[in-house]
Amino acid sequence: MKEQILKLLKDNQNEFISGQEISEQLKVSRTAIWKYVNILKEEGYEIESVSRKGHMLLATPDILNYEEISEYLDTKYIGREIYYFDSINSTNIKAKELAYSSESEGTVVIAEEQTNGRGRLGRKWSSPNKKGIWMSIVLKPQIEPQEAAKITQVAAAAVWKAINQIGVKTQIKWPNDIVINGKKVCGILTEMSGELNRLNYLVVGIGINANTTISDFPEEINDIATSLRIETGKEIKRKELIALILNYFEELYNDLKNNGNVYSSIKVCKENSALIGKDVRLTLRGEEKEVRAIDINEEGELIVQDSEGNISKVISGEVSVRGLYGYV
Ligand code: ADP
Repeated sequence: MKEQILKLLKDNQNEFISGQEISEQLKVSRTAIWKYVNILKEEGYEIESVSRKGHMLLATPDILNYEEISEYLDTKYIGREIYYFDSINSTNIKAKELAYSSESEGTVVIAEEQTNGRGRLGRKWSSPNKKGIWMSIVLKPQIEPQEAAKITQVAAAAVWKAINQIGVKTQIKWPNDIVINGKKVCGILTEMSGELNRLNYLVVGIGINANTTISDFPEEINDIATSLRIETGKEIKRKELIALILNYFEELYNDLKNNGNVYSSIKVCKENSALIGKDVRLTLRGEEKEVRAIDINEEGELIVQDSEGNISKVISGEVSVRGLYGYV
């Protein structure tokens, strides 16, 4: 009911709509309308209520609930069920709980703030309140567990396309980051539950520094992190950006479901790679190697060449990639 009242208010934005009219259209009592209007006010919607005139929506808050995002959503199943939180420990943790308790494919968890956001290997991911996009998508694809890493490439391509559509050029730093001017603006964390040859579910976490300012970042990441706001000088409309990401994600992920491959995502990752052609340092379980990144293959693996000319594949897993002279 709250959603329907909000929709009526939005359809009549900046005009009064009387309690009588709402009550007739939605077949609900005037008392109930008052109750829901008050809830909306508490959520941050600016509504003027005047007796005998009714209610008028003046402004919608910058929040990422389903009602706000769905206006821009073109998807069939990705993001059609959204669990929205003001604050949560980690959207990936919540998404894993939901996936386990049989929540279906495409469910999305979004939080305004994460108190325990994580990157790979348990590294901390800074997620300040209302500054970014902190979300996780539940997926249950029919793929082998060793193919799970491909989903990170799908997410990276979707984020790249969405940010590109709002007019910002980024690069994809294989396997799981998006960068601008060599600094990280987005990180992706894909986690899975499965057995040796059976995948139960996947959770793809996407963290984007949208409206973060330099003072919002913890000092230790000032040199490697940036935000869309810092790079463009403009306030980012987070709800539109989230919907764009989910729209592109569904389109690219359908390739995997329908054709069994993620070629179109890999193409985006390859054409906009921050690494291909560069000398990089790979770190895997404490071991370091300097190589040149030369390609990304159709499986989404990084192809590298060492100083002796030997060519090998790197599987994303837990490898960290750094530029020889900086983050990229
Ligand atoms: P890697 O950089 O090796 O790919 P992860 O993908 O695991 O590492 O990301 C975690 C790292 O990202 C942290 O150790 C920290 O350096 C950095 N970081 C944490 N929060 C943010 C953020 N909001 N924006 C950019 N970088 C961040």
